Amino acid sequence: MDVDLEAAVVRQGDLVRALKEQSAPKQEIDAAVTVLKDLKVKLAAKEAASAQVKNFRETVTNVLKRRLFFVKSFKIYGGVAGLFDYGPPGSAVKDNVLSFWHQHFVVYDDLLKVDCPCLTPEAVLKASGHVDRFTDLMVKDVKLGDCYRADHVVKDFVKDALEKDPRMPAAQKEDYARTLASLDDFTADELGAKIKEYGIKAPDSKNDLSEPFPFNLMFATPIGPAGLLQGYLRPETAQGMFVNFNELLLYNGGKLPFGAAQVGQAFRNEISPRQGLLRVREFTLAEIEFFVDPVDKSHPRFGSVADLEFFLFPRSQQVNMSAPLKVRLGDAVAQKIIDNETLGYYIGRTYLFLTTLGINKERLRFRQHLANEMAHYAADCWDAEIECSYGWIECVGLADRSAYDLEAHSAASNTKLVASRNLPEPILVEEFRPVPNRKQIGICFKADQKLVLESLEKLSSEEVVEMVAKLESAGEAPLHSDSTDKTFTIKKGMVDKQVTKKTKDKESFTPSVIEPSFGIGRIIYCLFEHCFDTREGADSVEQLNFFRFPPVVAPVKCSVFSLVQNAGLDELAQSISVELRRAGLAVKTDITGRSIGKRYARTDEIGIPFAITVDSSEGGVTVRDRDSKEQIRVPVEQVTQLLTDLSAGNKKWKDARCAYPAHTSSDKTDEDKTDE
Ligand code: AMP
Repeated sequence: MDVDLEAAVVRQGDLVRALKEQSAPKQEIDAAVTVLKDLKVKLAAKEAASAQVKNFRETVTNVLKRRLFFVKSFKIYGGVAGLFDYGPPGSAVKDNVLSFWHQHFVVYDDLLKVDCPCLTPEAVLKASGHVDRFTDLMVKDVKLGDCYRADHVVKDFVKDALEKDPRMPAAQKEDYARTLASLDDFTADELGAKIKEYGIKAPDSKNDLSEPFPFNLMFATPIGPAGLLQGYLRPETAQGMFVNFNELLLYNGGKLPFGAAQVGQAFRNEISPRQGLLRVREFTLAEIEFFVDPVDKSHPRFGSVADLEFFLFPRSQQVNMSAPLKVRLGDAVAQKIIDNETLGYYIGRTYLFLTTLGINKERLRFRQHLANEMAHYAADCWDAEIECSYGWIECVGLADRSAYDLEAHSAASNTKLVASRNLPEPILVEEFRPVPNRKQIGICFKADQKLVLESLEKLSSEEVVEMVAKLESAGEAPLHSDSTDKTFTIKKGMVDKQVTKKTKDKESFTPSVIEPSFGIGRIIYCLFEHCFDTREGADSVEQLNFFRFPPVVAPVKCSVFSLVQNAGLDELAQSISVELRRAGLAVKTDITGRSIGKRYARTDEIGIPFAITVDSSEGGVTVRDRDSKEQIRVPVEQVTQLLTDLSAGNKKWKDARCAYPAHTSSDKTDEDKTDE
């Protein structure tokens, strides 16, 4: 429902009533009535559109479930919220999306792909901040203990109130609208205050609700039979790439920039999973961590995407309540709308990835995070949002996370995660080493003397200078042993310093990281909606559903039929199927002899882009294109190569149509005629 429009209708209605009560001039009343009528027409159109959207979603979901694209997991046991299985066509679409992702990002940009465990020890997720901060605000039914996401409870209450009482006072309507717009920004206290102010109760029991409190979304699990090592199922794949930074840098010959990539399952114990595949508790993430020198975030291939033009929704446009802008990517980076070339490069590559899959470019935008939405350490963040029947959905997050992650893991693991760059000129530097007085240390520390000497050896040049200065000024200085966590007190005379001079031609630094993070399930769901279509069947009554999947994502590339049940035709159809499978194409063979129109309709419904119909044992076969329903005649010996080219996108249907004669409508394979 459009809250603003609803509020405008109520306000205008109040105005008309007031004018009539004041016996205002007829002209003035008529003008106000005209505005009111106009607003009502707009509202009715919006409501009709929103009902249409709901119907559309229901139709798509029915087809997806009926044709086993996806189903509730563990259905015979009642299912579990937020867990879904992909059936054969859904799982094939997912494989195709992931394989194209691999080609488009990993192969094209020579990224270093890794595969790390889902089980992650606590220390890693403590350092990354997930143990302390990966939370959503929750409220509980104080009597029954049922859990709800606090912002969802408020959102549902407000939407429900607005729908049930469109004639509520304008001021209240505006307050509700403001609350809806600010939900993401509310703190626990602010949400708690709203729940009290509106008198919101537990949605199921109407009992009182607790104060909102943070709930950690990670699934905790002890590792090992004794359960001594606390662990979690990873909530993202990124940490595996950060902790392997040194190995990956070495593998890359010590050179920056380079990117790591990982695809795998992520787990989040969502408080109230809803909206089907869009908010689930286990999902596939495909992530890239692109490491760059913070003083040079240029990208060598930025030129290849600079001329792309698509919708950007910069922070300034959002704050001014203005619409997204269609901008040339090169200009957006030059004007600093997007912070740097590498972030811009990945935004461009993401645009190409999504639109090649079949996402409608008019329903795709890149939205910049608002200042308060962005982590304090981030340099710039954008989300690829795709519009579907649930609204604009974040499907890919693209963030310049600066040096935060590597610095956090460096500090927590006591391991330097740094790269080095050449200095413009070599410089002479002084380095200080500790010179221990072994005799005095032996007398003082006895059994611990080895530990003390080892700890001294580990001091950096700066720490040696600091210790000796402290010994001079205060007569003693602390020395910490990291391996045993003991602290020793060193006395004056036990340690001196020695200087050496070195020429340095490199300096070390912590790289920045640019992270594109793809939620594969969300992309697939949006793809289902964007590719779904309906058209009239042969009888002009029935509406037939079909998916316009591009060949690259279609679950099956081609179906093979024999026109009628006949040993010769069936045998040829089978042998063509075998040939196509040998060439690596997923094929569906149907020699049931059912009317050809019905067989086309069934394969259209799972989005198979091409169909081969064997209608004679000589003289070629008919190849039909799903979207245009056009048909061509192709010699049997050329059909495998043609289908391979069409499926790989090396040839388009229009190329095939030019290369082969059209199948004439008087022939029997015309779907509208054979459906008898
Ligand atoms: P985040 O790390 O929260 O930015 O998430 C990265 C991506 O994962 C998002 O852009 C979404 O596409 C996807 N995602 C996050 N949470 C879920 C969820 N509960 N279910 C499905 N996809 C999700």
